[in-house]
Amino acid sequence: MKTAKIGRKIDFLSTTVGRYVQSNPSIEWSWFIRVVGNRHCLTDIPALQENQMNLTHHAMPPRILLSFDFDGTLHHPASTPPISSDFWNVLDDLRDHHAALWGINTGRSLPHLIEGLEESRVPYPPDFVVAREREIFFYDKKGEWQADHSWNAACDRAIADLLRESQATMKKIRFLVEEKTGAEWLEQPGEPAGIISRTEEEMAWIVGQVESIVPTASLLGWQRNSIYLRFGHRAYQKGSSLAHVANHFALKPSQVFAIGDSHNDMEMLQRDTASMIACPANAVEEIAQHVAGQGGYQCRESYSRGAAEAMRHFLLDQK
Ligand SMILES: [Mg+2]
Repeated sequence: MKTAKIGRKIDFLSTTVGRYVQSNPSIEWSWFIRVVGNRHCLTDIPALQENQMNLTHHAMPPRILLSFDFDGTLHHPASTPPISSDFWNVLDDLRDHHAALWGINTGRSLPHLIEGLEESRVPYPPDFVVAREREIFFYDKKGEWQADHSWNAACDRAIADLLRESQATMKKIRFLVEEKTGAEWLEQPGEPAGIISRTEEEMAWIVGQVESIVPTASLLGWQRNSIYLRFGHRAYQKGSSLAHVANHFALKPSQVFAIGDSHNDMEMLQRDTASMIACPANAVEEIAQHVAGQGGYQCRESYSRGAAEAMRHFLLDQK
């Protein structure tokens, strides 16, 4: 448990490889895995080699866009396998027969996500990734990751400008965190401002304080996931990123499905972004209430079994 926490902390701070990806227009998936993990790569998995060809099999225009949060929604390390076969069965059906594209919308950086996908033995890469809740990457027909440079650069610029303008506010928040709590303040290139608390309760208290410190009109936003919090720009989060991805594929909100379990999923679980919204049974209370209030689908099952259940509910059972 302790190891996992440290691993996530390192990821939260680590941007070196992520920056490398952004500065290089085309990163080959298998090569990238080798750089990141120095272990066996995804293309060593036979199923992937076959299915990688299927990435180019989308003969008809996409009709459905599926957006999954990763940790706590798809990926559950205590389960074997971490992503259930039930999930892959439903996803295969939707990809093969309903022209569905799928992607991961996560707080993880791209390198850390790829490690998680490898650990989960995913049979084929996602069509898109939203990393760190705001950076967009597409997996192209050549089997390479392509950063959405204009979006990612605009996002970086907006956050840098906003943090510069919000120095006084950020100072107050940092002072509060360092003086009144045992939480850690994070600041480094590529991850300009974040917090890791000791407990979920401590983070809930910090969020309450942040809400009272940040002026209502400010564009300063924050994404909370358990004991982690990342500051950013309100315009760049999982929801706006998903809307951008949908627009890229010329899909309307009525064709978009999204599922997530935690606070940082709130913005993508909005009906004007994704008309089909859901949360697994293990979702935090605020997300479960939000999804119910929006007329979304609350799964009976947890994690990836919940994701499979929700996809069936919206896209297969009613057909
Ligand atoms: Mg989650």
